[in-house]
Formats: sequence, structure tokens, C-alpha cells
Amino acid sequence: MGKPFDIGLERLTGQASTSGAPQRVEVSGRGTFFLETFGCQMNDHDSEKVAGVLLSRGYHQVETPDAAALILYNTCSIREKAAQKVFSRLGEYREKQSEGKIIGVLGCVAQQEGEDIFKRAPWVSLVCGSASYSKLPQMIAQLEAGNHRVTGLDTDTDETFETEMTRRDNPWRAYLTIIEGCDKACSYCVVPYTRGPERSRASDSVLKEVRQLAELGYSEVQLLGQTVNSYADPTPRKMRFSELLLTVADVPGIRRVRFTTSHPSDFTPDIVEAMESQPKICDHVHLPVQSGSTKVLQAMQRTYTRREYLEKIAMIRDAKRAIAITTDIIVGFPGETEDDFRETLSLLDEVKYNSLFSFKYSPRPNTPSLAMPDAIPEEEKSRRLAVLQEKQREIQTIRNEKLVDRTFELLVSGKSRRENQWSGYTTSHVVVNFASQAKELLGTYVQVRITGATPNCLVGEQVV
Ligand code: SAM
Ligand code: SF4
Repeated sequence: MGKPFDIGLERLTGQASTSGAPQRVEVSGRGTFFLETFGCQMNDHDSEKVAGVLLSRGYHQVETPDAAALILYNTCSIREKAAQKVFSRLGEYREKQSEGKIIGVLGCVAQQEGEDIFKRAPWVSLVCGSASYSKLPQMIAQLEAGNHRVTGLDTDTDETFETEMTRRDNPWRAYLTIIEGCDKACSYCVVPYTRGPERSRASDSVLKEVRQLAELGYSEVQLLGQTVNSYADPTPRKMRFSELLLTVADVPGIRRVRFTTSHPSDFTPDIVEAMESQPKICDHVHLPVQSGSTKVLQAMQRTYTRREYLEKIAMIRDAKRAIAITTDIIVGFPGETEDDFRETLSLLDEVKYNSLFSFKYSPRPNTPSLAMPDAIPEEEKSRRLAVLQEKQREIQTIRNEKLVDRTFELLVSGKSRRENQWSGYTTSHVVVNFASQAKELLGTYVQVRITGATPNCLVGEQVV
């Protein structure tokens, strides 16, 4: 997927928005906090909720660690590089504690490293995994009381993280976690250890928040979960995931409903039927395959074969309207032979994904694949990654060129420094940079005719 213009929305709009809470924040009484987030959309959204907890306790968010009394890192450990980045960042803050600053580590690295973080970085005072976020107010209270070693590391929970207030960064598109944790057991993945067991949020609570969001002016909601389509409503209503999609789309003011990430094994025909019957549900499914080889999929414990995955793809492609499909792929999993890798390349030829995220396999602590034989050398992983990305580039070049001269509706999300240049994205989540003479377009929906294409992005002009 392409990159939109890189001007922050806050700078464009002069504000970020808070939702779901009465306006009773005192910013004068308590301290200041700085929060940096690493990782995926779920981490971004967790940070929005953590910020909401702090704002409702009277804290004030600042833009630099130097200006903050409380410095928090919401971390990611899905691949080794992400975890390393967090420790190098923590190293930069060794001196800050002596200046009286409180430093906290949240998220996956916190959960994975636990109290060892206090040994490795003794200047840290708070270590809290995402499964303990619901106890964050009590932990903050302990820090305020002067406690220098506060932990939240329990993963044995059936609670979801519900906040009175969420400080959302984007004023038009709202993330909303509907399912936390993961009950799958992919052999390479830290998520079941770092985020705990699967917990679905009550459907009435999700819908209440969507109504509040619509009243605040949000027109696009993105339902989040590691396996979002495994949603299991804990209320007597027992709403299915497809029903939840339809009910969210019915909320007045909502124009687009997205969901990510879907697990192929739980991708059922009723989801496609819901998409067919309700155009507000966006034309996009992110369906990670990880490998095109059934042998590798089995070693990964992915719970489907290549053939079963392709049946899901056929079901989506047979829908009454075109639905974009994107995926995640790991190259260089232990034991992946050249033939296995070729099967992944042939899967790309068969599916012709709209775009994909690709990763070199990264051995992670506590995961079954860590002990697997036949590790692939780093240079070979890099070679396979480059070959895969080149193939996908060719596929996207052909795909995108076919879009020239077509007209799409965009939600405008960015404004370029260049005059009359804007960016937005289609329902299928393709970024389009376009020209328009309009004075103000941010947050509105416009029709744009495509005039040019690159593998990662489209160029166009507004149709007026
Ligand atoms: N829950 C989602 C799913 O099942 O597809 C994705 C979770 S993960 C945050 C996002 C992607 O990171 C995965 O789809 C996978 O491709 C990649 N990933 C996870 N663990 C990895 C590892 N150990 N090495 C390399 N990539 C990894
Ligand atoms: Fe990790 Fe697999 Fe769960 Fe996705 S489904 S979060 S890859 S264990």
C-alpha cells in the first residue's frame, strides 16, 4: 500500500479528539506524559486508550520526552528488530530518571521480558503487558504514591481493556478493538504469550462506542483484533461477527466499516454475504497466508492447507462486488526449501494480491519454532524476501495500471505541502494522491479520477 502525505493530522486540524467521556479533565493538577508507540494498529489503538486513562486522571500529553514527567513506551516484540529498538530507546533515557522522570514500558516487550527489564534498565519504574491494561489506573496510582517498581504482567485474564476515555489521533477514522489476545498457536508467534488468551468485547459496548463516535463526527470505523473474525460475543445476544459488521454499518453517520486481521480458518461465507449486502463494509479483506507451501503451513501450525486457503480466496473473489485482498508472508521459516519458497511465489501468481506485507522469519523467545532444525541463513532469507517483493511489485504495477481512468470515492486524509495536492484512500484501502482546487477537503469524501499509477500508489484529480 502506498504512503499518504506525511503531514500529521493534528498539525492539519490543530487538534486530536477524545471520545467516550464527559469533558471533566483537569490538566493542571497532575503531571505531563509522553507516549511513544511501536508496532501495529492494535498497539496504536492501545496507546490511544492508555492516553485516555492518563488524561482522565488529569495528566497532560506533551510531544517530547524532555517536556514529560512520565515517559511511556508501548512496545512490540513480534520480530527481533522491533524489540531491539525499544531497548536502544530505553538506553537513551538512562539519565532521565536522575532528572526525576518516571519511565514505563508497556505492551509486548514488557510482557515478554517482565521484571528482567528492571535488571536490564533499572531506571524503569513501570512494566505492564497489554493483558493488564485494565489495571492501569491502579498502577498509575501506585507510581503517584512513589512506588518505583510497579508491574502488571498477568495474562490469565478474561477482561478486555475498556476506558472511559480514548484519545484518538485521527478525527475521522476510529480504531476499535473488538477482540483481544489470541487462542491460535502459530509456532513462530509471540502474540499468545504477550497478549494472553482471546477475549471478545460485549457487542452492546462496541455498538455504544460506535454511536458515540458517529456523534463526534467519525465516519469510518476499523474493527481490530489479532483474529478479528474469531469474534465471539460474550453477551446473551451472541452476535456473530458478520452481524456485528452489519449492525455497526447501520449506525447513522457511519459511512465505512473496516476490519483487520482476519484468520483464514475463521473466514466464513456469512462475512462475504454481509459485505455483498452492505456497501458500507469496505471492499477489503486482509487475509494473511504466511506461506504457499502446505508443508510449511503445517510446521507453522496455521490450521489450513494451501488448497483450503485458496478456497477462501475463491469465495471472496466470487462475491458480487470486487473485494481487494491483501496478505502477510514470512520467508525463510525453518526448513523452508527452495521448492516451498517457489510454492509461495506461485501462490502470488494465483491470487494476485492487491498488496502484501512480507517479513524474514525472526526466531522469537517462548515460541515452538525456536527449537526447529534447518534454520535458513540470513542472506538466503534476504534473497527470498527480495525475490518475493519484486514479484509482488510486478503484480501491483499491472493491477494499478488497470485503474487509470476509473473514478473512486476517497476519504481525504492528508494535505501536501504542495499547493492543491491532497491524499486519501479508497474503500479498498489504496492511497491516491490527487489534485483539487478546493480550499478544505480533510475528512470529506470526494470523487477522484485516476490519471496515473505506480506499484504502490495512484495519482488522480478531483471530479467536480
Ligand atoms: N494475527 C495476525 C495473523 O494471524 O495473521 C497477524 C499478527 S502479527 C502482529 C503480523 C504479522 O507478523 C504476521 O501475520 C506474520 O506475517 C508476522 N510475524 C509474526 N511473527 C513473526 C516472526 N516470528 N517472524 C517474522 N514475521 C512474523
Ligand atoms: Fe500470532 Fe497466529 Fe495468533 Fe496471528 S493467529 S496473532 S500469527 S498466533
